[in-house]
Amino acid sequence: MNRKRIIVLGAAESGVGSAILAQKEGYDVFVSDKGKINEKYKNALLQYEISFEEEKHSTDLIFNADEVIKSPGIPDHIPLIKSLAEKGIPVISEIEFAGRYTNAFKICITGSNGKTTTTMWIYHVLKSAGLNAGLGGNVGQSFAWQVAEENYDYYVLELSSFQLDGMFDFKAEIAILLNITPDHLDRYDYKFENYVDSKFRILQNQDEEDAFIYCADDDVIIEKLSNVKCNAKQFPFTLNSNFNKEGAHLKENKIIVNIKSSTLTMTLEELALQGKHNVYNGMAASISSRLIDIRKDTIKQCLSDFQNVPHRLEFVATIHGIDYINDSKATNVNSTWYALESMESEVVWIVGGVDKGNDYTELSSLVEEKVKGIVCLGLDNSKVHKAFNNIVPNIIDAANMDEAIEFAGRLAQHGDSVLLSPACASFDLFENYEERGDKFKESVYKL
Ligand code: ADP
Repeated sequence: MNRKRIIVLGAAESGVGSAILAQKEGYDVFVSDKGKINEKYKNALLQYEISFEEEKHSTDLIFNADEVIKSPGIPDHIPLIKSLAEKGIPVISEIEFAGRYTNAFKICITGSNGKTTTTMWIYHVLKSAGLNAGLGGNVGQSFAWQVAEENYDYYVLELSSFQLDGMFDFKAEIAILLNITPDHLDRYDYKFENYVDSKFRILQNQDEEDAFIYCADDDVIIEKLSNVKCNAKQFPFTLNSNFNKEGAHLKENKIIVNIKSSTLTMTLEELALQGKHNVYNGMAASISSRLIDIRKDTIKQCLSDFQNVPHRLEFVATIHGIDYINDSKATNVNSTWYALESMESEVVWIVGGVDKGNDYTELSSLVEEKVKGIVCLGLDNSKVHKAFNNIVPNIIDAANMDEAIEFAGRLAQHGDSVLLSPACASFDLFENYEERGDKFKESVYKL
């Protein structure tokens, strides 16, 4: 009998992980990458004796596929993917593929912002509780690679909308939807509803035994939830003190988590990460951990000793009485809103980069209240100037990070904070948001 042929498009973390798993499961595997394959991944392919090509897609080797696993970075609208659809060849994501080969319990996190933080937070709780758990999806080692080489009982998976788009039969035992605000619309025909639909795919295949944890303060989620079928048991979280269902809420500065007739209480001061957004993230982490019966003491401990992931409101240093904070991961307006909201001192704000169609008016009142100076760090800063010229007296353009830190230091005084929270992607001046954040830290340390 002929072996089924699996083609993997994109040879980075998720693609190579998928190829290794497919090889182990006995498929005829071929990997194709339009760009150059990084050494690390090429070595892995060679080690597993998986055939591959780079810097091209040879259609004669691809169109005979039984199934294609596509990297989340490849858009659906490019000709190759369109041709596959026309030929009726199924195109799936790494997560869909790997989900077929594990019986582990899967806690899956999606949303426009806060995915990585919440995923890492939950993983921290599970590990501290001594569970045999893996961390994957958009962070760390790919899910497929781990399914191929490990044997975990639990997975905590960060899922982007691009991964969800290629998921059909996969089921999350616990699904978490943190929030939905416009992002990546270029991949969704500029239709917000398409992006919302994509996020709601996290509910697919769930039944009454499963759990759906979501933010009840998010109007987009509430509206959509009233129009879709949700079979799972629902566990909302909210800042509303009048909430009285199973889930989590805030009352008199305390987080209250009610699950299975048992209550966990924790003050906001005890929470490891500050800011409203982290109250939500912490609530989502607590509910999911309680649902799998982790002890309340362990959860409380982990809510208060979790170390934040770099580049998310990361405290860098205090120099001459000025706090420097790296929020380079804020690549959209909503995440910058939460960063500014959490600031307790006056702020000199470093903003700008590649604008994904930003509407800055949402930030106006926070900027008016908290921002004393703006340093623009992008190739084209005209939108930032236009939005804030009338609100903030000092707006300066910087050509690079060293200059941005120098200008910010001049605008800030003892007791203020300098916040890098760009609300934009980084590709005009940097390789990615990590490089931008690292450069910020380097420039600060040079002061
Ligand atoms: P993601 O993985 O979804 O991009 P991260 O955890 O990496 O999210 O955080 C991205 C940015 O969003 C950071 O600037 C962070 O401060 C901010 N953020 C974190 N959690 C939330 C939330 N629940 N709502 C809004 N913004 C958030």
